[in-house]
Amino acid sequence: MPLYEFYCDKCQKEVSVTMSISEREKGQAACPRCGSRAMRPLMGTFFTQTSKKS
Ligand SMILES: [Zn+2]
Repeated sequence: MPLYEFYCDKCQKEVSVTMSISEREKGQAACPRCGSRAMRPLMGTFFTQTSKKS
């Protein structure tokens, strides 16, 4: 499964989350440290994703 990098607003840290693409599209990302979903995707991780679509 792909690894995604997020910035957790609650932890105020960057976290890496492993999940499937379908889980990612559903927005089910939760912080592995605190369980919060107040996470923002870091720039750069989407480049490999979006490049495949176009
Ligand atoms: Zn967190």
